[in-house]
Amino acid sequence: MGRIAYVNGQYLAHGAASVHIEDRGYQFADAVYEVWALFDGRLADPDGHFTRLNRSLSELKIDPPMSREALTVVLKETVRRNRIREGLVYLQVSRGVAPRDHAFPSPDIAPSVVVTVSRVDRAATEARALRGVGVITQPENRWGRCDIKTVGLLPNVLAKQAARERGAVEAWFVDEMGLVTEGASSNAWIIDANGTLRTRDAQSNILRGVTRTTLIEILGLEGITLSEQPFSVEEAKAAKEAFITGAGSLVLPVVTIDGTPVGTGEPGPMASLLRRHYIKQAKASSI
Ligand code: PLP
Repeated sequence: MGRIAYVNGQYLAHGAASVHIEDRGYQFADAVYEVWALFDGRLADPDGHFTRLNRSLSELKIDPPMSREALTVVLKETVRRNRIREGLVYLQVSRGVAPRDHAFPSPDIAPSVVVTVSRVDRAATEARALRGVGVITQPENRWGRCDIKTVGLLPNVLAKQAARERGAVEAWFVDEMGLVTEGASSNAWIIDANGTLRTRDAQSNILRGVTRTTLIEILGLEGITLSEQPFSVEEAKAAKEAFITGAGSLVLPVVTIDGTPVGTGEPGPMASLLRRHYIKQAKASSI
């Protein structure tokens, strides 16, 4: 059975699904998105993603296209029709279709809603987590509102491609003070040379990752101290451990930064433990 996409009220064959050429997401990146990890056909961290979606929409003054309850039905129905149990659910909401003009169109224009589901090979991703991944660093060149999850991802695309060309999996953006902001599609964490678990605070122009928030809750329950302090590339290269978090990566050990091994050059024990904790919690909270 082929893949199915939801587009503005219809479930369509993935290959035939499309939005209009004057969709504002297509022309202006005037759109937001969310990604849920899917475990056993259920959406992980539902509250965090719905809450952030509503915040992103409200920051861009796009009306929510439907209630959370209705959206849940659409997401779950798209999952069901795709017959995918382990994967990722992608939702995009744009300001809608209107003649090209930078300023907002009439408020009567309905947002465009697209949902797709893709399969994840959990055995392959677990094997990758056991090996760990490399990251590279790139100068921060994104806009000042990275706290909004918009589809304006061109700097992230270029950074990710640079990572791929250098045999790495993720790129960490580095601000003008030499401090890591976040990854192109993940949040960045280290256990520094003093043994302190650190991730940048989420006020400072990074995406407040839902995986990050859930992991912080887990740390609280496990009595593990966290310092929400930015760290430099030098501190990261001298760290005992490093890892990234996101709906796609979950908690993924980082073993090299710009080719320099982190710690022993193997996935660290804390990163591996936190991955197990996170997956357990994500499965428990899934709907
Ligand atoms: N930072 C960026 C730039 C991202 O694109 C993502 C996820 O796509 C994250 C962080 C992690 O967010 P989450 O844990 O909600 O997936």
